[in-house]
Amino acid sequence: MSENSQQPQARISPTILLIILAALALSLAALSFAVSVLDQNPDAAWLLLLFGFLGMAMSTYMLLQTRRRLAKLRIVIPPVTTTIECKKCGFKNVREFQRGDYIFKEVEPCQKCNDKMLITAIYREVKEKEKQRFPF
Ligand SMILES: [Zn+2]
Repeated sequence: MSENSQQPQARISPTILLIILAALALSLAALSFAVSVLDQNPDAAWLLLLFGFLGMAMSTYMLLQTRRRLAKLRIVIPPVTTTIECKKCGFKNVREFQRGDYIFKEVEPCQKCNDKMLITAIYREVKEKEKQRFPF
């Protein structure tokens, strides 16, 4: 049983960040271009304005989604649980996984009959209701 309680590195992938920033820069360029051609070509300017605002809204939304996803991933890591059982009287104890736990390891004596207790199960509690959404 290997210990697996470390937090995974939750960072925005540089590629996605680059794409979002590029989209944002293009949107800003479209907006400034729209302002500069507003006098000569109002129709094109409005179209550019529309594209600029849409692009900005979309890249902001993507950035927020990515951050929300990462925040969710950070919370979702379920705890590892260790089940300890007494073979003599059947007393069962559940506690958080501790470093060095392995199945059939003898641990502290039973609270009821003072006999040796064994670790019978080590598992990760997974909550089904939390579904992960991947916007990409
Ligand atoms: Zn016992």
